[in-house]
Amino acid sequence: MNLCRCGKPARDSTLCPDCVRQVVTDLRALATGGVLRIRVHQKRIPVPAVVTLLPVAEVVTPATFRVVDELHTDTRPSLYELLVDTLVRRDHTGSDSIGAVSGAAAFEVDFHAAASELKAAIDGVIRTWAVDVAERHGRELPARSVRKAAAWLAANPALLAAHPDAGDFADQITKLTRSALRVIDRDPEKVYLGQCGAKVIVDKAIGSCEADIYAPPGRPVVQCRKCGAIWDVPERREFLLAAVDDQLATPPEISKALTRLGREVTESMIYGYVHRGRLNPHPPHPHDSRGRARYRVGDVRAIVDALTQQEG
Ligand SMILES: [Zn+2]
Ligand SMILES: [Zn+2]
Repeated sequence: MNLCRCGKPARDSTLCPDCVRQVVTDLRALATGGVLRIRVHQKRIPVPAVVTLLPVAEVVTPATFRVVDELHTDTRPSLYELLVDTLVRRDHTGSDSIGAVSGAAAFEVDFHAAASELKAAIDGVIRTWAVDVAERHGRELPARSVRKAAAWLAANPALLAAHPDAGDFADQITKLTRSALRVIDRDPEKVYLGQCGAKVIVDKAIGSCEADIYAPPGRPVVQCRKCGAIWDVPERREFLLAAVDDQLATPPEISKALTRLGREVTESMIYGYVHRGRLNPHPPHPHDSRGRARYRVGDVRAIVDALTQQEG
């Protein structure tokens, strides 16, 4: 029986199931951003006309099309993409500060260096390990990019956990993921304003721009970096908040969603409201194996808004 780096039994591999789960979660966060929402599109499929040879009593006009539901998944950018974004943005636009604030320029430079160093470190660790894990099992790495290599490792936890140095790898990945979160969080462009949605021409047809919009705090308007559309920040924020109001979610999800939309609220604040009977519990999501109660996002927002008004 092997022991994991954390002291728990690891059976025949190097990492225990909990540590495997953690490293897979981190790799996934780096490689893929997760699902933002799933949209259902109705698609019309033409149906060839049916010719019946038998005499029929009544002439029925056959349907010429049927409607099928198509699922579209909108995803968030991965940590890795956000990191690269952060880098690229600084490269192209430089500092947003006017230069009158002393120390601001130095901060930008530090910040930039941190993002660039971190990207290099992530590239190195993921590449080395993915190639090594693949070779050890007589395979060729089926990924050419760092994100794909991270996704491949996440999809092959057993191969990864069997590596004799998997403990080191797990440590490195956990540290790098935390640093990435920190570097991106320090980005002032923090408030998520949803997908752009401006009408754009895609393949000669009218579609909508799918770029994610993030606004620096305190800016009244924001411009989409992909299509150039200009949006009014408070209006978009209200619209997004209203759109999530009727959703049911667990306190961690609500905290994340509202904080992202510029309404700072922690999990423990929400549990506090629950404790004081200010929120009505709703049944757990059918797929939630932990059976956690859910709450209406709008109810939490109403409490937070009322508190903010009292303070301000
Ligand atoms: Zn462990
Ligand atoms: Zn756009």
